[in-house]
Amino acid sequence: MLIRMSNPISFSSFISPTLQAISIHENEIESLDRAIGDGDHFINLKRGVTAIQSITHELDSLPNSQQAKSIGMKLLSSVGGASGPLFASFFLEFSKHYNDENSTLENFCQAFTEGVDAIKRRGKSDVGEKTMLDVLVPVAELIKLASLNKLDIIELSQQVITKSIECAESTKSMLPTKGRSTGLGDRAIGHMDPGAKSCQVIICEICNQIISRG
Ligand code: ADP
Ligand code: MG
Repeated sequence: MLIRMSNPISFSSFISPTLQAISIHENEIESLDRAIGDGDHFINLKRGVTAIQSITHELDSLPNSQQAKSIGMKLLSSVGGASGPLFASFFLEFSKHYNDENSTLENFCQAFTEGVDAIKRRGKSDVGEKTMLDVLVPVAELIKLASLNKLDIIELSQQVITKSIECAESTKSMLPTKGRSTGLGDRAIGHMDPGAKSCQVIICEICNQIISRG
């Protein structure tokens, strides 16, 4: 049996809240990338979300799958660094699997998981390497479990918030084996991964929006 998401929300409605949420965490995200990267992660992130915000009106008229495709293309053309192409891969792959006519949690879960797998392919990386995947992979698994257990979307959003915070935190004790922090070796231990933190902030904001909109 399929669980229909009661009211498919336009993805574009999350853009401004996301920009606000990352701006609130500017200092934290920037200092994490200064500690174990090159300090530009917040700038890359802000550039990407601001570029997406500039096409909000265009996105508003598109179905969610096409919005995801336009978001991916925009990220590809506007954000450098490692994270830009990785986030772009997520949205481009997500768009291929999201079914606007059948917006069930099962379908969302499949599209989300395919997006995360595209990051793995692009980054030649996987969970446990102190990257954004350490938040995204467990969140994808949680959504899968929720869709199997027919969990209510509000309950799922609350669980995702808790899980993503816990997972971003867990990157502190990890040894980096992908990305710029790899060269630091042991010295990166004790610091949270900036990409894991930014994914956590974005995911939590989207979940809070879903909860507050009921
Ligand atoms: P750069 O590392 O080029 O300066 P950013 O600072 O924007 O780019 O992004 C850094 C983040 O990107 C890291 O914190 C990590 O989460 C993520 N990242 C980097 N390389 C990879 C990879 N190969 N696979 C998955 N995520 C990665
Ligand atoms: Mg960086």
